[in-house]
Amino acid sequence: MGKRPPSVDRLARSLAAHGLPHPLAVSVARQAIADDDADRLEDYARRRRRQMITEVVNATGVMLHTNLGRAPLPVSLPSRYTNLELDLETGSRGSRQRAVGDVMAEACGAEAAMVVNNCAGAVLLTLAALAPNRGVAVGRGEMVEIGGGFRIPDVMNQSGARLVEVGTTNRSRLSDYSDVADDLAMILKVHRSNYRIVGFTEDVTVAELATVGPPVVADIGSGLLDSTCPWLSGPPPSWLAEEPAARQTLKDGADLVLFSGDKLYGGPQAGIIAGRADLVATCGRHPLARALRPGSLVMHALHETTLAYLDRRGGDIPFWAMASRTPVELQARADAIDATLGTALSASCQSVPGGGTLPTVTIPSHGLRITSDVSDALRNLDRPIIARVEDRHTIIDLRTVDPTDDDYLSQALAAVLPAEPDPHR
Ligand SMILES: *Cc1c(COP(=O)(O)O)cnc(C)c1O
Repeated sequence: MGKRPPSVDRLARSLAAHGLPHPLAVSVARQAIADDDADRLEDYARRRRRQMITEVVNATGVMLHTNLGRAPLPVSLPSRYTNLELDLETGSRGSRQRAVGDVMAEACGAEAAMVVNNCAGAVLLTLAALAPNRGVAVGRGEMVEIGGGFRIPDVMNQSGARLVEVGTTNRSRLSDYSDVADDLAMILKVHRSNYRIVGFTEDVTVAELATVGPPVVADIGSGLLDSTCPWLSGPPPSWLAEEPAARQTLKDGADLVLFSGDKLYGGPQAGIIAGRADLVATCGRHPLARALRPGSLVMHALHETTLAYLDRRGGDIPFWAMASRTPVELQARADAIDATLGTALSASCQSVPGGGTLPTVTIPSHGLRITSDVSDALRNLDRPIIARVEDRHTIIDLRTVDPTDDDYLSQALAAVLPAEPDPHR
């Protein structure tokens, strides 16, 4: 007779220290037994635990890191009810779009605004609602693909609108648009968020497009709210110079702007449609609006983020707090960590905005440079630290690390740094 198989339940209970809910511990134990590998049960549990969502320290210097949830959320929400769809004035049912839409419209300088799940959803809804079976002009140099398979021609197909390509890859002129104006329900201007076309180029501005006739919808993608950045105490960062902003794009004559909530806006994942009230209302009445609407968590978080903009509290929005840190203050933090550890790791480095925005921009920063690759050890910590590796050196960019995590970072480094060779042995 063979050995009796170990009891699944007993094995699962032996994993208590791993913090897995019991049913997950049971499935881990079953798997280990099925693989005839019960001796390595602890490894199975550790691996399972690491598949769960957990807080990490972003030391990559990529401010909007898609793998790390893009923008860190500016709010922590109480577990309470909200008046999401209740009109407190009348006591009757209201619109969940109303409160966020109103403050968002104010922030953008728009007549009206509404919110969907992401900017991809905003593009899809706008096309479906405003141009069903009708022509939409897009410049051939703006046939964007962003990560995750979102391609403008494919979205156009899905929406039921008909793509009217104008111009060439590198050049389009106003006449390219006006020549086909009679065939158009809309002109879609798509920002080249994640690529650049340089050399022999020509482009048509939103102000020029606004003279053609059909409504101009600008997908600005990244969601810079206002190019003057009035929520910052200093001037706008120079690396934002070329980035289109919602407020100025509307002022230039766009009928609608579309943008993400979790790129340069620094809020939760969302897509914002802002501009002419009649067009926003048409989008809101389309059946897809219900399928694309966010839940109360997102509405609440976007509302709070937008209030921070209106109050000019840029420092309360983590993305803008990061973006505003100077190399000098980051160096002081790096030097303090060196002093704690007795090391000399402080070094300058370069941050990037990330998240598929501003592909050519780097921002002078400061952090720690370790002359070996300790990125696996840092990532394997219970509270993982995600670092960057360049030429087998580990770079810890302090711009994306919250200052309250510096002590944790010091302790973690003390544990993973390779021991210095002892000169006396
Ligand atoms: C990022 C981006 C999108 C998609 O935004 P999501 O919020 O990620 O869906 C659409 N258009 C442009 C131009 C973008 O930059």
